[in-house]
Amino acid sequence: MTSPTTFLPVLERIAEEIEHTPGRGRPADYIPALAACDPRRFGMAVAEPDGAVYGVGDWREPFSTQSVTKVFTLALDLAREGDELWEHVGREPSGNPFNSLVQLEYEDGIPRNPFINAGALVVTDRLHTRTGDASGTLLEFLRAESGNPRMSYDEEVAASEAAHGDRNAALAHFMASYGNIDNPVPVLLEQYFRQCSLRASCADLALATAFLARHGVRADGTRLLSRSQAKQVNAVMLTCGTYDAAGDFAYRVGLPGKSGVGGGIIAVVPGRCTLCVWSPGLDERGNSVAGVAALDRFTTLTGLSVF
Ligand code: GLU
Repeated sequence: MTSPTTFLPVLERIAEEIEHTPGRGRPADYIPALAACDPRRFGMAVAEPDGAVYGVGDWREPFSTQSVTKVFTLALDLAREGDELWEHVGREPSGNPFNSLVQLEYEDGIPRNPFINAGALVVTDRLHTRTGDASGTLLEFLRAESGNPRMSYDEEVAASEAAHGDRNAALAHFMASYGNIDNPVPVLLEQYFRQCSLRASCADLALATAFLARHGVRADGTRLLSRSQAKQVNAVMLTCGTYDAAGDFAYRVGLPGKSGVGGGIIAVVPGRCTLCVWSPGLDERGNSVAGVAALDRFTTLTGLSVF
């Protein structure tokens, strides 16, 4: 029987090491709300499949989750439409920046994977068509899995995303021209920007990701994804989850992971636990510097990885 705080001494050691590591990168600066974050903030949480959660540092502090939410919309849509989704979005690393337009024209409006912005727009569009309210469906799911009914969207961040959203609008219109978007583009963008603005803590996100460590089973014991679909989501996280640094992340950390420009990263040890780390300073590819370092240390110290 596992103790509910199995990895706490490891987390404490990592927090201590990170505290003394200079160089934290720079917060994202494309919207003021993110630019104002202190790069020295650091939190890390582990959730065990039975629902135990614990952490160190700022692990209960809500932050802007941004692209981390792309994992949950992918799972929620895949649960509803199954393999048909893969006719509209691929599952190969792109090798290009997350908001790049170039590949889309060569590849007839089908984005490379669900974690670049173009792919996430397609997933949100399809989830919205199926549920009538993609962002409401996402929030309801995350509140239920984390047990935190206060988790919410940050309307100010969403408005700021919209004000600086020309590139996402271009991606959506471009894909609509290929017939790969169902909803009116302004409707889709509103849904997508709200999704990006979600505020949640490391504790919330580690718990909300636990269905992937439980091979698709939700906190209440019902199944969201088949075992095979949970494997698919984990595989896409491993190969495409950390912008165009997924190879380096797999090399260093050896776990499926998904990062966001708010400085959060979630990671999964299938069958064993989930992790969420947050520190707002980013490297040049958009991944949290201290976050990747902390996950690297976690798998080194515990010997846990998918390899
Ligand atoms: N709101 C950002 C965008 O769509 C998300 C960026 C990210 O976390 O990758 O541009």
